[in-house]
Amino acid sequence: MIVIKGVPASPGIAIGTAYVLENEEIVINRVDVPAMKVPAELRRFRAALAATHRDLDAAESKVLKMLGKEHARLIDTHRLILRDPLITKDVTKRIRTEKVNAEFALSESLEVVNQAFEKMQDEFFRERRHDLFDVGKRLLSHLLRQEKKSLSGVKTPSILVARNLLPSDTLNLKENNILGFVTDLGGKTSHTAILAQSMEIPAVVGLSDASHRVKTGDTVILDGDQGLVIIHPSPEAVEKYQGLRRRSMEEDTALERLRGAPAVTADGHRVKMMVNLDAVEELKAVTILKGDGIGLFRTEYLFLNRPTAPTEEEQARAYTMVAKAMDPHTVVIRTADIGGDRLSQLGLEGPKNEANPFMGLRGIRLFLRHSDLLKTQFRAILRASAHGKVQVLLPMVSSLRELQSARRIFQQASVELEAEGVVIPKKVPLGIMVEIPSAAILLDAFLEEADYVSIGTNDLIQYLLAVDRINEEVAHLYDPYHPAVLRTLEGIVQTTHKHGKKVTVCGEMTSDPKAVPLLIGLGVDVLSVTPRMYLRVKQILRHSRMEDLKALVAKAMRMHDSDHIRRLLSELEGR
Ligand code: PEP
Ligand code: MG
Repeated sequence: MIVIKGVPASPGIAIGTAYVLENEEIVINRVDVPAMKVPAELRRFRAALAATHRDLDAAESKVLKMLGKEHARLIDTHRLILRDPLITKDVTKRIRTEKVNAEFALSESLEVVNQAFEKMQDEFFRERRHDLFDVGKRLLSHLLRQEKKSLSGVKTPSILVARNLLPSDTLNLKENNILGFVTDLGGKTSHTAILAQSMEIPAVVGLSDASHRVKTGDTVILDGDQGLVIIHPSPEAVEKYQGLRRRSMEEDTALERLRGAPAVTADGHRVKMMVNLDAVEELKAVTILKGDGIGLFRTEYLFLNRPTAPTEEEQARAYTMVAKAMDPHTVVIRTADIGGDRLSQLGLEGPKNEANPFMGLRGIRLFLRHSDLLKTQFRAILRASAHGKVQVLLPMVSSLRELQSARRIFQQASVELEAEGVVIPKKVPLGIMVEIPSAAILLDAFLEEADYVSIGTNDLIQYLLAVDRINEEVAHLYDPYHPAVLRTLEGIVQTTHKHGKKVTVCGEMTSDPKAVPLLIGLGVDVLSVTPRMYLRVKQILRHSRMEDLKALVAKAMRMHDSDHIRRLLSELEGR
């Protein structure tokens, strides 16, 4: 039995036989084409273009039917690329003047564009080349008559194993007997992962070499909750996971009665329970929970998988829809946190442009460098704030200067809108994520200038412990129960309360049943939880007594070993 740990991309458990997709490299040779055969070569290229357009049309109608307009936009992006002169004119010119085969002409043109993209200073745009490659690959497959390996050969319910999957690859998985998928590349926030969640397909990604270690026909267990893949599981492991799957389905059904029930402890302590929204497409699943609003709307998904940033209009439409749907509850809209792993899932091949992307140009750093993007997003959010209760949140703030610069742009955006006659509320709160240790340490100064703070434990833990949150080599060191993490959280809660303000936590710790009692006991006022864990967390809250949780925290705070803390929490969980 081999257990490998990856990134839990989409929750749920799948047990089945593996079906491994081999991603063979395509070798393209230069073939000289005699002058008299050039017209035929051009026709061949145009036929491949037409076939690729047909592919996209077919994919689009499928996406529209299954997932709606938002996802279908991705296809539009690919269609635009396919019409770009870089693909059309450039390739045909090469075939004509250099008298070479269409495959070679295409690959040469793609390489030129790739190099141009590589030289771009702006990492966001530099990463757009991967959309170009997706389209290029489709075109090549038509030219080489190498259709993508079809999944129609999957006769029995299987777990798909691949080096990587494109968002469009995930669309027909269910109808092709695929129970779940695992990939070597990717992060939990890839569009592929988002689609998997929307379609409720369990997935684990970022496994490095799963596609080499698993062979077609192997029995595999995929644990999308923990991010585990078990190859050749023992009969005991299979039995255990079958039991877990059954129990989890029964629990989900039982938990539904908690929708709309008050989020209070058994001794009457009210905790505001909000929901994290990762993509507009999940809005419906969020509203069904009848929670206290959206505590974190990760807007970066509006910016990924496309060659250009969304317009103000497009953003305003999305934010307005969310604000209206949640009204009268609050929606906390975070400006796009692009960078870190959110680029690496787009930039899967080739050398990384930043040696330490998590320490690099990410979140507010990137948007302050491109202040036009920040202002456009602020304008769109402000426009939406006329339709519901909206707050703005800044990611990755490490210094007061960043907050001050962002606030200036925020004020400019609001003055501009007012001058244009757009009605916006007098005060739209602007807060910061506390997810970098410097913000936690300097919190009292930040609290003078930020309207509110929200703790991002995902990043706070990685920066406090110097453990890359997506690096499986150090995954065992990524420890939410580390005494230093708990002390930092305690400090943040106390300092914020001293300023008479409320503390929100929006990182994944709020969705970890073991950690929830700690957070509540520490005095956290607002938990923003993932939709899937929302009702489970509410149940924990309703079964707890604040008095007990405070005693638990006092005990945990005296411990200097996270194993002891973990054991203490497990005992409570088991009760
Ligand atoms: C966090 O860091 O805890 C957080 C909520 O932000 P993200 O996971 O999007 O980085
Ligand atoms: Mg973060």
